[in-house]
Amino acid sequence: MFSRFIFIVAAILCIAGIGRAQSEAQPCSSDEHYRKLLAKYPQLAGYEKAFEEQLGKRMAERTTAAADTTIYDVPIVIHVIHDYGDENLSDTVLYDAAQYWTVVYMKENADTADVIPTFVPYVGKPGMRLHLATKDPNGNPTKGIVRFQSYLTAAADDEAKFNQWPPNKYVNIWFIGTFGAEDVGVAAYAYFPSSAVFEPYYDGIICLSSYVSVSDVSVAKTVPHEMGHVMNLYHPWGNTNNPGVACGGTDHVDDTPPTKGHNPSGCTPAALYDTACATGYMVTYMDSHGVLDSIVNYPDTANSQNIMDYTYCSKMFTKGQAARMRTALTSATAGRNNLYTTANLAATGALAPMPDLPPVADFIMNRGTGPTSDARAYFLTFNNSSSFVFRNASWNDTVSGVSWSFSNGATTPTSTSMSTVTNQFSVPGWVTVSLTATSNAGSNTIVNTQAVYVADTTTVGGMGYTQNFSNASDISNWPMMNFYNNQFKWQFYTGAGIGDNSCIRYRSYDSSDRITGNAVGDHDDFYTPAFNLSTSTDNLYLNFFTTAAYTNHNIAGGTTTVDDSMEVDVSINGGGTWYRIGGYGSTRLDNNGNYGTEFVPNSATTWVPRAINIPSSFRNAQTFFRFRYHPGNTGNDMYLDNLYFDGFPAGIKEAITASPNSFNIFPNPSSNGFSMVFKTGNTGAVSYSIKDITGKLVYQNTKVFTANSIQQESVSRSATQAAGMYFVTITVDGVNMTQKLVVY
Ligand SMILES: [Zn+2]
Repeated sequence: MFSRFIFIVAAILCIAGIGRAQSEAQPCSSDEHYRKLLAKYPQLAGYEKAFEEQLGKRMAERTTAAADTTIYDVPIVIHVIHDYGDENLSDTVLYDAAQYWTVVYMKENADTADVIPTFVPYVGKPGMRLHLATKDPNGNPTKGIVRFQSYLTAAADDEAKFNQWPPNKYVNIWFIGTFGAEDVGVAAYAYFPSSAVFEPYYDGIICLSSYVSVSDVSVAKTVPHEMGHVMNLYHPWGNTNNPGVACGGTDHVDDTPPTKGHNPSGCTPAALYDTACATGYMVTYMDSHGVLDSIVNYPDTANSQNIMDYTYCSKMFTKGQAARMRTALTSATAGRNNLYTTANLAATGALAPMPDLPPVADFIMNRGTGPTSDARAYFLTFNNSSSFVFRNASWNDTVSGVSWSFSNGATTPTSTSMSTVTNQFSVPGWVTVSLTATSNAGSNTIVNTQAVYVADTTTVGGMGYTQNFSNASDISNWPMMNFYNNQFKWQFYTGAGIGDNSCIRYRSYDSSDRITGNAVGDHDDFYTPAFNLSTSTDNLYLNFFTTAAYTNHNIAGGTTTVDDSMEVDVSINGGGTWYRIGGYGSTRLDNNGNYGTEFVPNSATTWVPRAINIPSSFRNAQTFFRFRYHPGNTGNDMYLDNLYFDGFPAGIKEAITASPNSFNIFPNPSSNGFSMVFKTGNTGAVSYSIKDITGKLVYQNTKVFTANSIQQESVSRSATQAAGMYFVTITVDGVNMTQKLVVY
């Protein structure tokens, strides 16, 4: 039995300097995630060192054992986190991939034949078979793939792992659409066993859905690479994640010669025969008495075809890596050694034949080619010439037939076997869509009562219309869409309001600290009924009041950054096309600062008026409005009340009435003309002038209005030629009032 002391004799061992900017994207960010965890849990360093020593000892024992030919069976589960786009990988693609991962881990991949002669003697066999589970954590039958529609598939991070299965029973593998800001340019990452001890709920592999195809050599070994990390392998150059920079790092494996590592720039001869760090590489082994046992002369060439390198011509693990993986697998650290136990294989059904289960019925709503969020035609008027398109997206078995049914006077009513159905509806209201998918193993039905809203074209009002949201029944024709069916949503709310105790709110408050609480990426809509605005010829504003706050209770160290935003769109073709007419960034929206708990407005003064000018081109006999809310990481609740149409912006009339010797300019700053609101006096005569910053008069006018009335006067951009600051003076019954105006 060896007590190992290793002397690495290489030509040059330079201490790794940080030569490459961390921002340069690498395909695997396991090292970055490890370092973040290390910063959060400094005790991880000591833990890892002890684990490493234990591993070294056990590796020596294992490698000298007479025969270490055990094959380990390891249960896996694949979670597809998707939003019905390309990231919703098919069962077939995933079954093929899972099979291939076992091929690699059993050293049966055909491309080991392409390993350069130097490394042929060193090709190692991890000896692991990865099995899709046939029983879920509750013991129910499964085919080892589960799917969730979630916004967390975009800009994904650890939060996307919201449905982890116990990591000591299954190796969890998540596929997502895109990575977020922490992992720009990254294809995948995983946690080492010692890291997983500290945050077991993140243990597993998370990988781009575009890095799974077994027919694409540049991506097929991405999951096998990450599985290497799960089994405690480092990158061959160490854990700097700066490949190609400096010799001197180590992966704690003897038969992977020292290397700087290589970028994913292709598999070049320079990479394949790179001797920069390994010339003269030998390892000296001592016995337990400190007496020389042997000196092994390992190759002087980097093992660039190693699956843990970044060359994208990866073909092999070494024998040393295989031993290290098997040692980690048979260690209790992070419960890895439970994975292959007889009891766990029975509990997860890993060795049982794949059951023949009925399909899981599912369908996709009108997915066009536009941006995902706008490709859903959930909302259309009943007489709109556009159509709703429904596409079968059932999974879990080979579907032999589908049967649809639709309420609301659908043009294609029931029982068509088509996988794609185009439909129009003649009856307004929520449509019930039902799809039954059938296979040899049975059938499954999905019924969705909130996928499609068919809007009535009957108008509920126009100029002068006011909605106080007093009763839930007031908004029976104001549909609210919770696209991801979660806690972040629009809702009718009783407990706050202007003039009464009710309003509508967007529930953006994030009550949890991790995993399920992240609202970033979600969005939800509510729609108004039709308004007749065609008769309005003067100024017209969509007015309402809002009040909101943010929270930093779940941000380490707090934050003043607020992410929530709201957009207001208008449609004059029954929801076929939407145009943006208003937007509120977080700094404008969250007017009540930071609240550690869920925000509820307790006073009328917390509400602020909002006004959106409705351009005359959007004043139609059937005009609809859409409010789209984007909750953020630091969101708290936003309340909205008293929506009305008026010739004056919300709040201005009230302000002038309360303070008659004042006037209001909006918008200010302005780029396209501005309006003034003022109260006339006993004569009704009002004169006004505009002077530039030097006092030079640039514009003046006099008009006579109705006496003692609130009036609005618009001034075109041409009245102020150059951008800059101006002074606007209004004279009412001999009294001058002046305000600053900024023109850009
Ligand atoms: Zn990696």
